[in-house]
Amino acid sequence: MDNTDFDDNPTGDLFTNNQIDTGEVEAAVRQILQAVGETPDREGLKRTPERVARMYTELLSGYSVDPAAIINDALFEVKYDEMVIVRDIEFYSLCEHHMLPFLGRVHVAYIPNGKVIGLSKIPRIVDLFARRLQVQERMTRQIADFIRDLLHPQGVAVVVEGLHLCMMMRGVRKHNARMTTSAMHGAFRANLATRQEFLDNIARPPVAEI
Ligand SMILES: [Zn+2]
Repeated sequence: MDNTDFDDNPTGDLFTNNQIDTGEVEAAVRQILQAVGETPDREGLKRTPERVARMYTELLSGYSVDPAAIINDALFEVKYDEMVIVRDIEFYSLCEHHMLPFLGRVHVAYIPNGKVIGLSKIPRIVDLFARRLQVQERMTRQIADFIRDLLHPQGVAVVVEGLHLCMMMRGVRKHNARMTTSAMHGAFRANLATRQEFLDNIARPPVAEI
């Protein structure tokens, strides 16, 4: 993970609606197998290109998901204006530098300004941005920006804790494999006490599962 080396403003729309060309992925995987000295036709590998192509349609589905369909009917007008926190949302993404997984937890908080979103939608917003070729910094900001633009809240904060397999597996700077990133807007940026309330909350151990 080369922290500074990411395209801050990737060209094209956030939502391309591109369908993945599975035939082309299959051909490419077959070529990689050959290039690394394997025998693509041996029993164990025969269907690997096909499996990998199918896997990518799932792991990279974020490009083609329609955000409007996610939000669908889940915005509510409310008078509530206290902090809403959804913590420990699992995510799995692929780093765009090595196409290896990075994974971990996302914590989201916002202070409504007349509008809230159904709680179950927040993990789906996380998936929308995790299931792409990503860098953690950009994913963090995209989640925060998306919620800001959707709800126009008094503030929104996103903290992401990620483990990067490209660091762990390749054995360089292993101690650095765990990374924390954050993005803050509005009250969370302007008001130290607000920010601290959120950070204190996510620093506590998770509530035991019921
Ligand atoms: Zn990487």
